[in-house]
Amino acid sequence: MKIALLARNAELYSHRRLVEAAEARGHEVDVIDTLRVNINIASHRPEMRYKGRKLEGYEAVIPRIGASITFFGTAVLRQFEMRGVYPLNESVAISRSRDKLRSLQLLARKGIGLPVTVFAAHSTGRADELLDMVGGPPVVIKLLEGTQGIGVVLADTRNAAKSMIEAFGGLKANILVQEFIKEANAEDIRCLVVGDKVVASMMRRGGDDDFRSNLHRGGTALKVKITPEERSTAVRAARAMGLNVAGVDMLRANHGPVVMEVNSSPGLEGVERATGIDVADRIIAFMEKDARPSRVRTRGR
Ligand code: ADP
Ligand code: GLU
Repeated sequence: MKIALLARNAELYSHRRLVEAAEARGHEVDVIDTLRVNINIASHRPEMRYKGRKLEGYEAVIPRIGASITFFGTAVLRQFEMRGVYPLNESVAISRSRDKLRSLQLLARKGIGLPVTVFAAHSTGRADELLDMVGGPPVVIKLLEGTQGIGVVLADTRNAAKSMIEAFGGLKANILVQEFIKEANAEDIRCLVVGDKVVASMMRRGGDDDFRSNLHRGGTALKVKITPEERSTAVRAARAMGLNVAGVDMLRANHGPVVMEVNSSPGLEGVERATGIDVADRIIAFMEKDARPSRVRTRGR
């Protein structure tokens, strides 16, 4: 296959690994800097130009669109979809995954376990009501636009929670207020879903004195054996979002796994190193089987 890898930085571990894995299987890969693609939306046949040439002849596209360029990146991906190029993850599914609130609503609709969560836009003045709705403190407060654990805070007491909610409200930031899953012990489970399988999973453990287990926040990654319930939850979560490839983050709550987030461009470094599994190869192998011209459920709508 001739594959386009949409990525800002060809040197990132995950992107290098995907190119390596594709080439090892005999495919041709061009890394295309998403922000340098010019798209012509109006033409009869949707066109794209990149560094002075037309982008054409691709059979598949691997989108690796960073959170900060979701808006333009998904537009470029839609343009590929309009040309009938098979997307590993489709644009609508990526947009869903970038919107925490929309993601939680989609997951809830499918009956997937979630932490009790309330949302309020600029909620100054109604802090008590929000806290009551999640069963009182301790609570986790999350900026709707946060990533990599930034903008996720733990409030132990009602007073602390109220001042944080009011502070975020004063900044006109949208937030989620969530029950704190204490028994998770600053550990979460990241499952790499490819197609309808979990191909690798790791446990991430928070650094000293941090309830957040993000690797970007000093967490460490360990290999972990997941339960059948966790496995099926991860696969159902990816499917609910419409993602072929996803990193599903879960906490081990007393009543079973609860999903926190479904990531549409999961990093490969942590999980490949922790497990020794060649996840990049699994992804390319899946594409070989799944790719067909115009195989996209939503066509960007
Ligand atoms: P981000 O999207 O910025 O990574 P997350 O929602 O994944 O933010 O939260 C970051 C980390 O904080 C999680 O990996 C988890 O360890 C911890 N965490 C998040 N929500 C909760 C919660 N409700 N209860 C306990 N720990 C949580
Ligand atoms: N095309 C619809 C959208 O973008 C899909 C709806 C959904 O999220 O399931 O909203």
